[in-house]
Amino acid sequence: MAGVVAYKDGSGRPSPVVSAYRLRDGVYLNLTNRCTLRCRFCPKFHGLWTVADARLRLRVIDEPSSTALVQAALEAGPCAEYVFCGLGEPTTRWPELLAVSAALRATGTPIRLNTDGLASLVHGRDVVPELKGLIDHVSISLNAADETTYERLCRPGRPGSYAAMLAFAARCRMYVPRVTLTAIEGLPGVDIDACARIAGDLRVGFRARPLESTDGRSFRVR
Ligand code: SF4
Repeated sequence: MAGVVAYKDGSGRPSPVVSAYRLRDGVYLNLTNRCTLRCRFCPKFHGLWTVADARLRLRVIDEPSSTALVQAALEAGPCAEYVFCGLGEPTTRWPELLAVSAALRATGTPIRLNTDGLASLVHGRDVVPELKGLIDHVSISLNAADETTYERLCRPGRPGSYAAMLAFAARCRMYVPRVTLTAIEGLPGVDIDACARIAGDLRVGFRARPLESTDGRSFRVR
């Protein structure tokens, strides 16, 4: 894969698919496009594959190695945090996620994992203790205050996903300094106040976030 950091050079040429990209004050890492959910609100299901001018569409065969991800992160320069996030679920590549986190620890920069919270379900074991000392903040997509709404919006491939995600969040509280549940404002059927109460019951943080159109175009979610 040529090039690792997204930038505008004024040439008019499309930037390469990137392993790391800058967004706000963070450097975001693009591990994979594979996912355990098929969220109706996901930009990739609306044909949108860029974030902050960074092209994120990866074939499995092009997924960057741990070494390439670390190199891309470091080449992006100093930042306030590293974030595992992309148009796919970072925990799909669990060994690489841990290896990259361990390598980036040396920078002293905080590391956040944005996840759907299904890693333990998918990998068939409780993986949360493996995050200890490697991840500073886990942000988990709650997305809905009840299983029916979650399944309608997120279309999980595995039964029991909603309960598994909540259990993952509760476990993270024991091994990761900061845990946040998130839900998107304005989606049909999503009760943001009820989502916030679930986070409160779990004694973790909560953030309501806007539905972001990643390249400036908008799309509708039904
Ligand atoms: S979990 Fe994230 S990347 Fe995966 S389908 Fe949902 S919104 Fe898209």
